[in-house]
Amino acid sequence: MKTTFISQDQPQYRANLHSHSNLSDGKLSPKELADIYRQNGYSILAITDHEYPKSHSELSREDFLLLTGYEAYIRTHTDARFDAYAPEVHLNLFAKEQDNETMICFNEAYCKYLTDPVQRKNLRRVGSERPREYSTSYVNEFIESANRAGYLVSYNHPVWSMEDEERIFSYEGLFSLEMDNTGTNRSNGMEYSGHLYDKLLLRRKHLFCHSGDDNHNKNPLTCPRSDSFGSFTMILANSLTYPDIIRAMETGSMYASTGPLIHEISVCDGRIHIECSPAAQIICSKGTRVSPRIRAIKGDSLTCADFSLDPIAPYFRVVVVDEQGHRATSRGYFREEYS
Ligand SMILES: [Zn+2]
Ligand SMILES: [Zn+2]
Repeated sequence: MKTTFISQDQPQYRANLHSHSNLSDGKLSPKELADIYRQNGYSILAITDHEYPKSHSELSREDFLLLTGYEAYIRTHTDARFDAYAPEVHLNLFAKEQDNETMICFNEAYCKYLTDPVQRKNLRRVGSERPREYSTSYVNEFIESANRAGYLVSYNHPVWSMEDEERIFSYEGLFSLEMDNTGTNRSNGMEYSGHLYDKLLLRRKHLFCHSGDDNHNKNPLTCPRSDSFGSFTMILANSLTYPDIIRAMETGSMYASTGPLIHEISVCDGRIHIECSPAAQIICSKGTRVSPRIRAIKGDSLTCADFSLDPIAPYFRVVVVDEQGHRATSRGYFREEYS
């Protein structure tokens, strides 16, 4: 029996699931952000301003969908001051319903961009409003409140956040890990979380993965330091409607990329079959130290590969790397999904 995880028959929509406008610390207005992403071949944009839950549905078009959400954070200092030497937690909250603008665990020290008194007065607030606390139990309580209020919660830029892995392993209720982040990678040069993702999958954390720009657009788009159009997510859905895209995200029908595209991932008769855009190598990580890979002959490229299924491996995931070193990363597919 054939199990298809990424099908050539299903449309793929290019998404930036992490961006900041001038409603928080970004430079461009929400409309300018929507315009540049639409003009650059994207179908989906989530404007995730810091502690600023906001629907931008008025900017959606037939061929371009705005997702509602925001980025929440928890720091070690109760006054929320930035400390480059201390870890912090950043979470993207994606509203399952387009008009959901609920604020989770409102706190004055954090919600500094919400300055409009009318907006504040009308804010729907969920979760404890005691001072935020950098502890595993508080973060789990925060995620639980967000889930209860109708949000999918992702864990953002793990390298930049500098949290101990053991803490990340103990978080519950996350739906996806941000694999690549253009903005933080521009500053630290090492924002890729493949190893962390394997460790989470080995601990049976059923997390998906995605990537985003986290763009603030302080530099022009033509500047090499521009933080737009580097990392993205391809979402596979039947149509570009809010419910279909959220359902696809919720069920892991998406993959992360900084360049290559994955056209097919299927399992049949003990073989994993992959089809992709031209690649220099295709890796099938199975949570072991001997993950097989197939490399193109020098000067040539690959557009498909087959790997044998490992009957012992708890999962597999696929990484496609092109000649420039750009990667597409699938989510982990657990054995119970294909056997
Ligand atoms: Zn962040
Ligand atoms: Zn951000």
